[in-house]
Amino acid sequence: MVTKDLSAMEGNPKFIFFTDFDGTITLKDTFDAYQYIPLHGNTETLQTDNIGFGQEKRKQGNKDVLEGKETFRESFTKMMDSVKKPFPECVDYLIENIKLDPHFNDYFEWALDNNIPTVVLSSGMEPVIRGILKNLVGKNHDKIDIVSNQAKARPGKSMDEEGGWQIDFHDDSDFGHDKSLTIRPYADLPSDKRPTLFYAGDGVSDLSAARETVCSAGKVSVHDAAKEGYEMYKKGEAGVKIDDDKE
Ligand SMILES: [Mg+2]
Repeated sequence: MVTKDLSAMEGNPKFIFFTDFDGTITLKDTFDAYQYIPLHGNTETLQTDNIGFGQEKRKQGNKDVLEGKETFRESFTKMMDSVKKPFPECVDYLIENIKLDPHFNDYFEWALDNNIPTVVLSSGMEPVIRGILKNLVGKNHDKIDIVSNQAKARPGKSMDEEGGWQIDFHDDSDFGHDKSLTIRPYADLPSDKRPTLFYAGDGVSDLSAARETVCSAGKVSVHDAAKEGYEMYKKGEAGVKIDDDKE
C-alpha cells in the first residue's frame, strides 16, 4: 500500500531522520534476517534463535536470499512462521531482551529540542517496536513515528493462542516493506519545501531507503551498500541534489 503520507512535515522541520530499527538503534536484532553480521559483536537474532527455528535455518535463509534463491519476503515469512508462541508472549519476550543503543536517548532528546522528527522504518512488527520504545524511551516514545510490518491473526485463530498469528507485510514488494516508499513523497517535495533527509540502516533492505536521502549512515554489512548509494547520489542517479536547494 503506497500512501503519500507527509506527516513528519508537521512543524515544518528543516531535517528529518529516518532510521532502521533492528541492529541500527538497538543492540540486538529482533527479526531482521539480514543481520548475519550484527553489530556490537553479537551473533544472535533473538526471536528466531531462541523461540523460532534456530540459527542454522536462519543462516541458510539469509544465504538463500543473498544468492537470489528466494526473496526476503519468502524467507522472512518462513522465519516468522516458525515462531509459535502466542503474540503477546513474543512481544513481552522481546521487550525483556532488546536494548537500545546507549546513545539513542541522548540523540532523541536533542532531536526533539531541535525540531527534527524521527521516523523508524522497519521490517519488524509495530507492536514489538512500540513496546520496546515505550519501555526504553519513556513518555516521549509516541513522538517517534513507526512505519513497519504488522502482525495479524491466522484465519479462524486468535493472536493470543499458540500458532495463532502471522506477519502482515506493509506492501507488495519482495522486501515485505519497501522502506523507500515512505521517504519518496518527502524526496519529491519541491526544493524550497523539502527538508534535508537523513537515513541510518545496517541491512540490505535499507539500501532502497538510503538511495532516497542526501545522507545515509550505514553500519557493518551495509557499508558497501551505503558507499554504492553515495556513488549513485554523486552521479545524480539517487537522492536529492543539494545544489538544487536555494537558501
Ligand atoms: Mg537492521
